[in-house]
Amino acid sequence: MHRIFVSDIHLSDDTPDIEAAFIALLKKEFPFDSLVLLGDVFEAWVGDDDDAPLAERIRLALRALSDAGTEVLFSRGNRDFMLGELFASDIGGTLLADQTVLDVAGQPTLLLHGDILCTDDVDYQQFRQLVHSSEWQAEMMSKSLDERRELARQLRSMSIDAASNKPEDIMDVNQDAVVSVMRDADVAVMVHGHTHRPDRHQHDTGERIVLGDWTAQAGWLLREQGSQLSLERFSIG
Ligand code: MN
Repeated sequence: MHRIFVSDIHLSDDTPDIEAAFIALLKKEFPFDSLVLLGDVFEAWVGDDDDAPLAERIRLALRALSDAGTEVLFSRGNRDFMLGELFASDIGGTLLADQTVLDVAGQPTLLLHGDILCTDDVDYQQFRQLVHSSEWQAEMMSKSLDERRELARQLRSMSIDAASNKPEDIMDVNQDAVVSVMRDADVAVMVHGHTHRPDRHQHDTGERIVLGDWTAQAGWLLREQGSQLSLERFSIG
């Protein structure tokens, strides 16, 4: 198995170089068996019916990858939490549950975006509960794309969304949450992103691998090749 995990690419109309680096990575690594997108690939996602050029370009790139035989799995992040089943079918991929256990390098491994581990940010956890509810999402989807785009702009400018992508503005994980989430999932390995603090940590419960965010200078990926896992930083631009 040759699998690549990425998260926190934060694609938007303001990030053409990072978008080019993402497309280039898919081409450079091909052929590989599996791509796992662990949330916040998009800086914002207003709904799977989004017909904006950026959404179309990424759909096409991922569809080409899955058509060529690479499995594409993705989860929602705290920014692209409106990603859904229509996007999955558009790209020939699979939407993962917020917490998914998958065999990675021979070990049951918990995959998640990571925002639920930041339990010290009480305001955000309340916000998350609201916007993940089916009622709230249904109400959003009843609005026009233009209305949703305006709401997304407002959300991004609200402090509750930690408008900046700087790591010092994003809380780190709560250690008790890490231990309890790993225990509940009955795993000794966990992979997440979100905190923009790429590293490999040892906890009482096992290893926690944190993906990095992509900037104009560098991107991050986790590579599973056979029984090996490597957290890799690569230059952009
Ligand atoms: Mn995030």
